[in-house]
Amino acid sequence: MTERLVVVGGDAAGMSAASQARRRRGRDELEIVAFERGAHTSYSACGIPYWIGGLVAGGRDALVARSPEAFARDHAIDVRLGHDVTTVDLDRREVVARGPGGDVRLGFDHLVLGAGAGPVTPDWAAEAFAAGTRGVYRAQTLPDGEAIRAAVGAGARRAVVCGGGYIGVEVTEALLRRGLDVTVVQRGPQLMGSIDPEVSVGLRHAMEGHGATLRCGTVARGLVTRAGAVTAVATDQGEIPADLVVLALGVRPRTELAAAAGLRIGGSGGIATDDRQRALDADGAVVEGVYAAGDCTEVVHRVYGRRMTVALGTHANKQGRVAGITIGGGQARFPGVVGTAITGFFDVEAARTGLSCAEMGRAGVECVHATIESTTIAGYLPDAPRVTVRLVAEAATGRVVGGQLVGGRGAGKRIDTIATAVTAGMTAEDLVGLDLAYCPPYSPVWDPVQVAARKLLDALG
Ligand SMILES: Cc1cc2nc3c(=O)[nH]c(=O)nc-3n(C[C@H](O)[C@H](O)[C@H](O)COP(=O)(O)OP(=O)(O)OC[C@H]3O[C@@H](n4cnc5c(N)ncnc54)[C@H](O)[C@@H]3O)c2cc1C
Repeated sequence: MTERLVVVGGDAAGMSAASQARRRRGRDELEIVAFERGAHTSYSACGIPYWIGGLVAGGRDALVARSPEAFARDHAIDVRLGHDVTTVDLDRREVVARGPGGDVRLGFDHLVLGAGAGPVTPDWAAEAFAAGTRGVYRAQTLPDGEAIRAAVGAGARRAVVCGGGYIGVEVTEALLRRGLDVTVVQRGPQLMGSIDPEVSVGLRHAMEGHGATLRCGTVARGLVTRAGAVTAVATDQGEIPADLVVLALGVRPRTELAAAAGLRIGGSGGIATDDRQRALDADGAVVEGVYAAGDCTEVVHRVYGRRMTVALGTHANKQGRVAGITIGGGQARFPGVVGTAITGFFDVEAARTGLSCAEMGRAGVECVHATIESTTIAGYLPDAPRVTVRLVAEAATGRVVGGQLVGGRGAGKRIDTIATAVTAGMTAEDLVGLDLAYCPPYSPVWDPVQVAARKLLDALG
């Protein structure tokens, strides 16, 4: 008998799960229906800032990896756009989706919840969106990107970006590229709060050097409007004129459907699952046939086992894959995260992984850190880009538990070496002895990560 898989959310996690399930189970065995409330499926939100900045050849369509037609043709997956799933009934094993033609009721044998995370929207911003105020945007979806591009095209001159996390940084670059004056309003004392200020200073200099105005320690409290259009952002330190405002204030897992269905929502705010992405009930037992993956779930931090939510496409794809393989009868596990992330601003690259000293302190574990300055290629070559690297180790064992770096071309992806070391539980000594590649145009003879590891070893004593 043909079984049915229903997927809620047609992007990274949901469609990875659907595709993997299809690879293992033919169309006669498994019918797959994916409901997506938006107008696109399998699109790269990660590319939106670069599209706004004019860097994406081919426009919006280049950000869409696969259309519903391609899913139907190549994978026999029935993607229904414009369908908002409003109810998940685990007793009846069916969902209700509100579509253009009314409600659709569909039973399932397997269900994947991949609803993602929704943008944090303060009341004043929600009121502006509800009132249709012109000039206020988010940068979450392709229509958001399209609206920002249209506003820039229509002559917006002064932008305020609310939020100094990585999306705020990337949108700031995009708007500077398009010739706008950009002010970043950030509640905390620095941008990119997950990177220590001594390391992120290079990013701040780059942003100021490219003309961005940074207003850290400033809280956005509302919008000033005239004739239905924004004219300024009101902050606790006065008004900042703007004809274009982008909110990049973080996201929260979308868990409403799961919670209403009686699934367990973890303490960190995401849907709780086991490492095969099987959803748990209120008592922590696996709910057979029900999976959750991506930004809507919580994940385990591999260093100290803490559960947390991390909204990143890299995890969503991996978790979706695990759910799909499990549905297909295979064996796969999502082992958790170490908190690796990377971003950039023009030619400055910034990345972090594992735990910072502050996070170690909060975990009650004594740590040692070392910070170095080096270059990403041999220093005698022209314009060798500078890089700052910080490594963090557990004081008692010398085990590397985290790292951060900011630098020019070639710096950012070096975080992967540190992430690998953190994941493998390597010590500073292990890292010093690692056989990394060397050739002058690609690296100094001591890779900057190993220069930092040597200093860390000294600090560990
Ligand atoms: C501007 C930007 C830049 C980013 N850059 C990076 C990056 O460089 N690297 C990185 O790793 N990550 C990045 N991310 C994060 C990454 O895009 C997300 O982590 C990833 O898309 C999560 O995938 P997901 O499938 O879990 O959720 P989503 O991609 O959010 O997909 C969930 C889908 O579910 C749909 N949905 C929700 N509720 C329902 C419902 N009830 N019924 C039907 N459909 C529903 C939504 O419309 C949405 O399409 C970026 C995000 C943004 C916004």
